[in-house]
Amino acid sequence: MTKKICIAIDGPAAAGKSTVAKIVASKLQFIYIDTGAMYRAATYLAFQAGISYEDEAGIMELLQAKTIRFEPGDIQQVYIDDENVTNVIRTDEITNHVSIVSAHPLVREALQKKQQAFACAGGVVMDGRDIGTAVLPNAELKIFLLASVKERAERRYKENKAKGYEVDFEQLQKEIEERDHLDYTRKHSPLKKAEDAITVDTTSMSIQEVATKILDLANQTIEQ
Ligand code: C5P
Repeated sequence: MTKKICIAIDGPAAAGKSTVAKIVASKLQFIYIDTGAMYRAATYLAFQAGISYEDEAGIMELLQAKTIRFEPGDIQQVYIDDENVTNVIRTDEITNHVSIVSAHPLVREALQKKQQAFACAGGVVMDGRDIGTAVLPNAELKIFLLASVKERAERRYKENKAKGYEVDFEQLQKEIEERDHLDYTRKHSPLKKAEDAITVDTTSMSIQEVATKILDLANQTIEQ
């Protein structure tokens, strides 16, 4: 049986973290945890309730009253209580405000606790911004995924086009840069490479190549 290690994958927006994390988790038969989806769900709660994204106390009240959970499937489904929010948390409204909500320290603390509880039995691949530094500082394998902003915007652009959304490339690039800036510069658990993380620059690598590289590193760690 495969040793149940924890794998942390961090990096800026649209670096391919979730796609790669899903492949790695499925190959190793580990659980995949998309922490970005949890911050997106918190942002959606504020939107739905019509409260300001700056209202930390209000968002905390909503988070305490509701449960964010994942259900496995071809595409992992995200629920808030019984409401399936998988698609709605990816809309521009949420994407362009999630970094305001994720900067609130109490929101971070609450979601980080949930993430640690999900991972306590090991056998997880978790992706986010602060997994190697704050959520799972003892993860056996830490990866920091990088790619140029241009390449990341191109990937997102193609993804959106494939889904039938027409988006302006320059605008997309600007939004990614803005989100990165907020995530890198926030006070509490900012986006940061852990000292013991391995950097993988995915610029001009295919998703499959990145997944193979991480799987090799994971297998080496598991065999140690
Ligand atoms: O990974 P994704 O792009 O879905 O993350 C959405 C946002 O959630 C990020 O831009 C960031 O503000 C926040 N986030 C975070 N910490 C994490 C994961 C995501 O602050 N571990």
